[in-house]
Amino acid sequence: MLIVDKIGPLQSHLSDWRNESNKIALVPTMGNLHSGHLSLVEKAKQIADRVVVTIFVNPAQFVEGEDYATYPRSMNEDTEQLRAMDADLLYCPPVQEIYPGEMQQHTRIVIPRLENIYCGETRPGHFAGVAIVITKIFNLVLPDYAIFGEKDYQQLLVIKKLVNDFFMPVEIIAMPTIREHDGLAMSSRNNYLTADERKIAALIYKTLTRTAEIVRSGNTDFNSLEKEAINILDGSGFRTEYFVIRDAETLDQPGTGDLVILAAARLGKARLIDNVILRR
Ligand code: AMP
Repeated sequence: MLIVDKIGPLQSHLSDWRNESNKIALVPTMGNLHSGHLSLVEKAKQIADRVVVTIFVNPAQFVEGEDYATYPRSMNEDTEQLRAMDADLLYCPPVQEIYPGEMQQHTRIVIPRLENIYCGETRPGHFAGVAIVITKIFNLVLPDYAIFGEKDYQQLLVIKKLVNDFFMPVEIIAMPTIREHDGLAMSSRNNYLTADERKIAALIYKTLTRTAEIVRSGNTDFNSLEKEAINILDGSGFRTEYFVIRDAETLDQPGTGDLVILAAARLGKARLIDNVILRR
């Protein structure tokens, strides 16, 4: 596996591969890799000739007061895992390489509505930061495919919109959420949970699946279902930010299309997000 931290060698390897007509799949990550990330790498291997993984803790997507400085970084373990999976190239640039110059002077991307609701409401600027770094990485790698997890559902919609609005020549592939044995969605931020918090953390997924079952059985009183779910979580020690049943494509109020149930809740120092998709 090639490990590259500069744009020059990155583009030179990629151009060699493209000249050999290799299809390239990209898996962008912030590192601290777990089985969720690795499932994306596995998918990338299945669909493309070359697999590029990026590890970059993107300062632009962390909001003031968030965990940028303390976000778990484990480059040695990550490299070993990617090597064992036979990824072709790991790109792990320093911040200066991706954001030379002053951040304030940088070009911005605005994602109307989608960047301001749900996770965007409590994390103002977060999705604009994601959109910037994904645009940069797509432009550097020019992948045929880019693989993302459904775990970060709103992020996935932001990226699909970005690609669609800017005619980016890349196919976005979404992969299901990989979970711990009790259903808790795998996440680097699960490390922030104490042993006691970890025991109740899976209640988010249990509440999501229970709500999904009730909706599937024909109940359309979404407002009451949302309130009930928030009561269950808040009554068990979570501080729920939102628990909503929405149209899966637009995040508007539910219509006749597929639904997504989205949740974000704080538990101790951790902020956990999860979702369940209800296909109809
Ligand atoms: P991150 O390193 O948190 O930025 O995540 C990198 C990619 O991995 C994103 O596309 C995430 O949606 C995806 N991802 C994170 N956790 C999981 C999970 N538990 N299952 C599947 N994909 C995941």
